[in-house]
Amino acid sequence: MAPLKIYNSLSNTKEVFKPIHKDSVGMYVCGPTVYSNVHLGNVRTFMSFDMIFRYFKHLGYKVRYVRNITDAGHLEDDSTEDKISKKARLEKLEPMEIVQQYTVDFHNILEKFNFLTPNIEPTATGHIVEQIEAIKTIIDKGLGYEVNGSVYFDVVKYNKDKHYGILSGRNIEDMITNTRELDGQSEKKNPQDFALWKKASPQHIMRWPSPWSDGFPGWHLECTVMSTKYLGEQFDIHGGGMDLKFPHHECEIAQAEACNNLAPVNYWMHANMLTLNGKKMSKSTGNNILPNEIFDGSNALLKKAFTPSAVRFFCMQAHYRSILDLSSDALEASEKGFNRLMEAIALIPELKSAKMSTFDVSAWKDKCYSALNDDFNTPILIAQLFEAVKQINLMSESKASLTQTDLDNFIKAIHAFVFDILGLEKAGSISQTQVLEDVVHMLIKMRNQARTDKNWALSDQIRDELAGYGVQLKDGKEGTTFSVN
Ligand code: AMP
Ligand code: ZN
Repeated sequence: MAPLKIYNSLSNTKEVFKPIHKDSVGMYVCGPTVYSNVHLGNVRTFMSFDMIFRYFKHLGYKVRYVRNITDAGHLEDDSTEDKISKKARLEKLEPMEIVQQYTVDFHNILEKFNFLTPNIEPTATGHIVEQIEAIKTIIDKGLGYEVNGSVYFDVVKYNKDKHYGILSGRNIEDMITNTRELDGQSEKKNPQDFALWKKASPQHIMRWPSPWSDGFPGWHLECTVMSTKYLGEQFDIHGGGMDLKFPHHECEIAQAEACNNLAPVNYWMHANMLTLNGKKMSKSTGNNILPNEIFDGSNALLKKAFTPSAVRFFCMQAHYRSILDLSSDALEASEKGFNRLMEAIALIPELKSAKMSTFDVSAWKDKCYSALNDDFNTPILIAQLFEAVKQINLMSESKASLTQTDLDNFIKAIHAFVFDILGLEKAGSISQTQVLEDVVHMLIKMRNQARTDKNWALSDQIRDELAGYGVQLKDGKEGTTFSVN
């Protein structure tokens, strides 16, 4: 079978994946800036990396997946105010209340979409000390300079030995020519220079002491510091949305090169955008749909509600490097496809017959792996899954089956591709609430048994301990019911 190839945005080619440490993968993905609810565009990017994380795990790699939470330093475009600070000021809340609210929202949404949790989820505010140390190193190397309490990265000086623009295919001369910044308007030496540390204005609420001023770190720096802290000065994969390639990731490369004199990342991966009405889904323009508006069908653009798995299937039907446009019709088509897949999977255990099918399970499985090994090509994988659906339906209609070995193999493979790697959930799979309800019913049954046995101590214990969890039992003519307060 072909080895796993990954499209590396640094070389703009598909390269065979060779991890730095045998059998291990270190992967960093830029996380959300937690100042508002995540929209489906954000989710799509994280979902692509969730699938990639799942595939590496499936292949048996020991993966350390780090996805940060940006809770400081991300400046509002054309402003000197941090996005979280601004929101906190407008809503008259503590910045950490904003951070808490939207971090919880982010986790809730990802849980609904059946995401796996990363191994480390570091926050920018938890790494201020490390960021200050990195700035000192960059200044010592002569690549950072202080002006009025803020520190900037000297892009022009860096570019004398290295290439600022290596990732996004730009060169500094063009960037300089294309910048129209009026002289004297900025305290930076060159318009391309970016902030490592910003002095906080008196009204700026988020501030930390540093050798230069009371201020806050630059957004690009947090990712350099957190990725290298947990994955090493050089690590395997760095991911994020396409829109982060420049300047965010370009700056990350420059900072890491400045600190460690090493290219930090072997494979840069960029996920493409989810669009709505042909335009990028975005927080700032308001052109977005929130996942909860899809689950309850409350968004006027949708004709109905859709389950997280139908939406996840819709996302997985596109390659992560392709643009995907969201519409009610497209979601409906995906939902139909998803249901067809689930119905076919449900038929597999019934395929018992003496008549043998000609379906070659092992060749089919190879095709599925080839798709995934070709830069995680989920649409091709899904096309293969529909080939399997066709075969299952044929077998079911003609009462044909597979040998027991092939059938076992097939069931294992389908489960791996559909549930473990694509991360889909069976329609109607039991929710946590349902599980808890079932458990309470089981305890009620045990209590009834205890009462029949006149074991009053045990029956009281069950009632009292459930009450301790807020579950009140009510004994009535119809038996025992419960309520939760
Ligand atoms: P942010 O919270 O704005 O820093 O964005 C979090 C992640 O979502 C980043 O990786 C962005 O590249 C990604 N992202 C933002 N908008 C979209 C979109 N419309 N489609 C896909 N990914 C997006
Ligand atoms: Zn980042």
